Amino acid sequence: MRTLIISDIHANLTALLAVLKDAQPFDQVWCLGDVIGYGPDPNECIERLRSLRRLVCVKGNHDAAILGEIDVQTFNYEAQASLKWLESILSLNNRRWLETLPERKTLENISLVHGSPRNPIWEYVTDVMVARANMSSFDTQICLIGHTHIPSIFLMEGDSENAVRLNSLVPGEPFKIIDKAIVNPGSVGQPRDYDPRASYLIFDDDTDQWTHHRAAYNIPEVQERILEAGLPTRHAFRLEAGW
Ligand code: ZN
Repeated sequence: MRTLIISDIHANLTALLAVLKDAQPFDQVWCLGDVIGYGPDPNECIERLRSLRRLVCVKGNHDAAILGEIDVQTFNYEAQASLKWLESILSLNNRRWLETLPERKTLENISLVHGSPRNPIWEYVTDVMVARANMSSFDTQICLIGHTHIPSIFLMEGDSENAVRLNSLVPGEPFKIIDKAIVNPGSVGQPRDYDPRASYLIFDDDTDQWTHHRAAYNIPEVQERILEAGLPTRHAFRLEAGW
């Protein structure tokens, strides 16, 4: 069975569609939250996602913010501006769907959260120190996370939380995960590793292999919709360089 793993779509429908096409064939989808926020297509992204077979999705901080579950004052000015816009456009049906998302999901041997296993909504696992501190916060072998928008894998060698190391992911090169690990597929709709292409992972449980992928998409088209919607211009510009 091939699983598509995505995160941080951030209302970028063009990027999402590019990934869904590029990733074919797949049997199920795991989504690590932040379906909305920043981008111009919140309803379209939720509806496309909801239509996917065998979808498991957890809640991100942007998803929680629009539901009033966290204080928007904790967001930067531009994120707040897009939340305001979002409030005016998000359909009731889609809002209700966001409400149903859990903060954490445990599958057979894999946990799914948006931020970190010990703080699913907020914490950023950006470095080895933070990854180390999180290794005892999940019982499965692997924990999938999003939130940083940076594809990465933190591996714990043996039983020692002190022996956690960070590996970068190379697109197109299959790998196996033997150790306990925290794995981030990167972002579909707003990559921040200076590669503007949409980022995702495929996990094939027949071969036990993981593969990181990047999918190019029409960025100018999305930038145009961001500007047309009156969303902050920075959200448009950052897409072309991937920051
Ligand atoms: Zn995000």
